[in-house]
Order: sequence, then structure tokens, then C-alpha cells
Amino acid sequence: MKNYKPKGRLTATEYVNGILKGNRVLLSRAITIIESNLESDKLLAKEIIQSILPNSGNSIRIGITGVPGVGKSTFIEAFGKHLIKKGKKVAILSIDPTSQRTKGSILGDKTRMEELANMEEAYIRPSASGDTLGGVANKTGETMLLCEAAGYDVILIETVGVGQSETAVHGLTDFFLLLMLSGAGDELQGIKKGIMEMADMVVINKADGDNIRKSELAKRQYQNALHIFPKSESGWSPIVSTASAIKNIGIDKVWDEILKYYKLVSENGFFQKNRNYQQIQWMYNNINEALKDLFYGSENIKDQLKGLEKEVVEAKISPVKAAQKIVAIFKTSFGNTH
Ligand code: GDP
Repeated sequence: MKNYKPKGRLTATEYVNGILKGNRVLLSRAITIIESNLESDKLLAKEIIQSILPNSGNSIRIGITGVPGVGKSTFIEAFGKHLIKKGKKVAILSIDPTSQRTKGSILGDKTRMEELANMEEAYIRPSASGDTLGGVANKTGETMLLCEAAGYDVILIETVGVGQSETAVHGLTDFFLLLMLSGAGDELQGIKKGIMEMADMVVINKADGDNIRKSELAKRQYQNALHIFPKSESGWSPIVSTASAIKNIGIDKVWDEILKYYKLVSENGFFQKNRNYQQIQWMYNNINEALKDLFYGSENIKDQLKGLEKEVVEAKISPVKAAQKIVAIFKTSFGNTH
């Protein structure tokens, strides 16, 4: 009965009860409602989130990033299995910025984490799609809360380390893991300095075979690079280690370090402080998204924008002036002229 599939549309209470019992079918359906842009679904989604809120928050939230090919899915498969062996239930969510811009997706095209996907203690959910990163991050955040309510006690949020989505993931997680490769002198590998700065741990993956020596060298280079950054408010000094996801070497060390981090930040108060800060940021993200929806969803604004675009291109009005004008029109439509 655990994954019993009731037919048709359910009430918020029915979804919530199913999620709290760990029913994966209802969890998946509730996530689909969260991802939906239909107004009726939005209302239902809000009700579900509000009701499960007291049962959320009890997980370790880990962000994992790295460029395509670094071995994220191989690593997560090994890491997830390790966590399950330790008695954990693991949910894996992904934010894939490519799926917003193109129909294709870096993360979604291949069969990933096959073994883990078949395990009862693991739940894998690919990226939500959406027009804006802020919107996708909000939905991933809500999905995370549902997974926590369903009893998943480690949440892995994966992202492709090529863009701004890392900042969004950093804003949702407690610990940020960066996967890298050895053997590149100008080796920051398209990983921006800002991403390095967010990392609580850097793992040099593919440290096997001929690559072991190079990986050790890279480890020292990254250790030096990380020392330059100012000490984080968490009181934690970022760790660099090597691993081979494919040979399952160094995976246990990653979890041990995360537990050390968790102990440190729980005791020094940073864990809660950071979560509180994230909650507030999350509220602002939602305000921003709601305002954007309201603005760009308005028929009047849409019409006016078409005209303004033309005027801007023809240099009849400056872009700045055009922006001021349209915002003024928007204000007026709310009866507020100051
Ligand atoms: P992702 O794009 O970051 O998810 O990377 P994948 O997990 O799909 O891995 C990309 C390629 O690297 C695959 O061919 C993997 O088999 C290989 N790979 C992943 N981890 C390791 C590792 O630890 N050692 C070696 N030698 N190859 C690996």
C-alpha cells in the first residue's frame, strides 16, 4: 500500500498524508503540481507546502556541482549508495540551466544513476523547467521541503558548474561540494572564482590509474588556491581531497567531512543562522518572481512593451527612459502614482 496510486485529483490533505507516509507516487505527483504553472495548481501547491512545513527541514542539504563530464552522476551514484549503507534515505534533485534555454539538457539526456534510481531509499527527480533561474530555484527549494517531509534525510542538489545556478543552489543548501579534475594548469576549468569561493569541499575526481599523481598535485594546488580566500563565516576551512567515483575510493571521506562540518556549524550556531538567512532570501526570491509575473503577465504592459521596443531600436527613446516609462505605467495601473 505504500505506493498506492489513487486516481484523479486529490485534496491537499490527501497529498500531505501520502507524502508523510513516504508514498513516492504521491510525492512525485505533488512535485508535478509544484512545478505546474496552472493557477489552480499553484493554489494547491501552496496548501501542500504550508501543511508539510512543520515536517520539513530535518535533512542535511548538500549542493554538488562540476562541469559536464567531471563525473557528477558517477559520484552521486557511489555517494548515494554509501549514504544508504549508513542508513540514510537520499533524494537527488537537479537544476539544469541548459534546459531553460534550449529544449536539450545536459543532465537529462542520458540514463543517469541507474542503480541508485532502483533503490527504495533513493529518490531522483530531474530538473524542473522554467523561464527564470529564480523560478526554477524556488521550485527546487519547495521540492526539497516535500522530500524532507517524505523522510529523505540527505538531499543532494546537483547543478552543472557552468553558470549562475550554483549561486541558487548555494542559497538552498548547507554544504557545497565542488567536483574538479586534475591535469589542467589553467585548471580552474571554466569554474568561476566565485564558485570556488562557495565550496566547503573540493573533490578532485578520477584519481585513479595514471591520474593518481596528477590528482595529488592538483589537490595541493587547490589547497593553496583556497587559502587565499578569506575565512568563511562558518568557521570551516574548505577541504580538498581526491576520489575515484568509478572505483569507489575516497567517497566515505566526503561523507565524514560533511559530518564534521555539520557538527562544527551546529555547535557554533552557523547552521541555524545560515538557514534563517536562506529563508529570508527565499522570501525575497519569491517576491521578485511574483512581481515579474505580475508585470510581464499584464496585457497592457505586453502591448506597451512592443511599442517601446521599437522606439528604443529607432533611438526615439533611451533604454533607461523607456524602462522608467513602462514602470510608471505599471504603477498607474495599480492606482499608485508616486
Ligand atoms: P557528469 O557529466 O558530470 O555527470 O559525468 P559522468 O558521471 O557522466 O561521467 C563522465 C565520464 O567520466 C563517464 O564516462 C564516466 O564513466 C567517467 N568517470 C566518472 N567518474 C570517474 C572516475 O572516478 N574515474 C574515471 N576514470 N572515470 C570516471
